[in-house]
Amino acid sequence: MKRFIVPEPGVAIGESGLAANFSDLHPPLTSVQAATEAFACLFCYEAPCVTACPTAIDIPGFIHSIRHGNPLGAGERILSANILGGTCARACPTEILCEGACVVNDTEGRAVKIGQLQRFAVDAVMERGGAHPFPRAADSGRRIAIVGAGPAGLAFAHCAAMLGHRIVVYDAQEKPGGLNEYGLAAYKMADDFAQREVAFLLGIGGIELRQGRRLGRDFSLSDLQRDYDGVFLALGLEQPAGLGIPGEALAEDALGFIAALRRGGPKALPVGTRIAVIGGGNTAIDAAVQARAMGAGAVDILYRRGRDAMGATPWEQELAANAGVHLHFWTRPVEILGTSGAITLRLTDTQMVDGRLESTGSIRDFPVDRVLAAVGQRLHEVIPEGIAVENGRIRIDAEFRTSLPMVFAGGDCVTSGADLTVQAVEDGKRAARAMDRDLRAATNGTGRQGDSHE
Ligand SMILES: Cc1cc2nc3c(=O)[nH]c(=O)nc-3n(C[C@H](O)[C@H](O)[C@H](O)COP(=O)(O)OP(=O)(O)OC[C@H]3O[C@@H](n4cnc5c(N)ncnc54)[C@H](O)[C@@H]3O)c2cc1C
Ligand code: SF4
Repeated sequence: MKRFIVPEPGVAIGESGLAANFSDLHPPLTSVQAATEAFACLFCYEAPCVTACPTAIDIPGFIHSIRHGNPLGAGERILSANILGGTCARACPTEILCEGACVVNDTEGRAVKIGQLQRFAVDAVMERGGAHPFPRAADSGRRIAIVGAGPAGLAFAHCAAMLGHRIVVYDAQEKPGGLNEYGLAAYKMADDFAQREVAFLLGIGGIELRQGRRLGRDFSLSDLQRDYDGVFLALGLEQPAGLGIPGEALAEDALGFIAALRRGGPKALPVGTRIAVIGGGNTAIDAAVQARAMGAGAVDILYRRGRDAMGATPWEQELAANAGVHLHFWTRPVEILGTSGAITLRLTDTQMVDGRLESTGSIRDFPVDRVLAAVGQRLHEVIPEGIAVENGRIRIDAEFRTSLPMVFAGGDCVTSGADLTVQAVEDGKRAARAMDRDLRAATNGTGRQGDSHE
């Protein structure tokens, strides 16, 4: 696991410390390391790792190709199931997905390094350059609009382009990639990987990106319904959930902190900065670890429940501990006092009483320079008229159709599985195939589904 350079109190981190802290979390495997690791795989017949991967990559198949000296074949096999296999190899919580299910855990006490082997193979395909590995089908004459150039939108775009449709992707941000570009921790996506991957994906042709264009501000859903044969909404969850306590305006949004870091690059924080992060998920860990990696003197995560209830995986918790982040459980703020830069968090301890989280009644003050709130994201308040929302997400059926005809949705803005990059990719892929079936059924006039050519 990565070791962070954590300077002594009062000592500045320096350029070399910053560069080391924000270097690749998992340096790539060499060819020799990859070949050796491939020999650890047992090539299970009904491999549990495949079932545990939301995109059902043929893991034994691609590891077999690496073992036989064919990384390009391995990479193409991965990308045929997951076109963002490069990001997933870097960002998937493999310990709770494919590697968590690996049977080698039972005999060797550790899993085959599936994520790192996946990265080795996908990087080989991307570094080869040349023609895109997947051809487009003949032009279908159909045009599809996508709103959101995150993993769900991009995976949909690639899959629909392969099926012969022409695609226009609208996105509010300056750069494509969604949270791959603005959310994932910088050390997971070193060397501008998000943009390199988008460029690779666009190599298939037939996809146009229109950045800086926001649905609800620059155009409406009815504009898209008028101009396109189908619409895919991949809006993610943009709106930070509030703390709902007095003085919360003094807290900064943790995702905004991370996005600013991704935009401007890591810069040393003033020595002595003391930061509190409120929350228990991956956003809290990413904000805390990156603040520490920027040289913050003390970083504390405050979480209202116990360790086991944390959304952050044990591996992420260990990463935070490695970076010198302190985790506090069973505590939450009831008020934020002071002024920007000189803040007092008024905390109470918490406990479970008859299945309900309650304050113990205790009160103590916790002085900090900055507070980052990482208590979750919500769907943006401006959801187009006619789109039904259920439990805070866009309602879809089993085929990703929303309540409006030929408007589909996927990724974090719907409830399909865990809020992970790999799940968003799977949603995009499956939604593209479902929309393709509906478009072809409408053309045939059969109303029948399931006649797409995949
Ligand atoms: C801080 C953080 C760290 C994370 N780390 C990990 C990780 O390590 N591993 C992992 O697997 N997952 C991680 N996740 C989760 C993962 O990033 C998401 O599940 C995934 O990005 C969801 O993809 P998406 O395409 O649905 O949405 P997003 O990636 O959020 O993309 C949505 C896109 O829609 C655009 N958009 C939104 N509204 C509009 C509009 N009205 N008009 C035009 N464009 C619009 C946005 O600009 C954005 O580009 C993390 C999430 C966060 C917040
Ligand atoms: S996409 Fe993620 S879960 Fe699936 S095999 Fe690759 S690293 Fe594992």
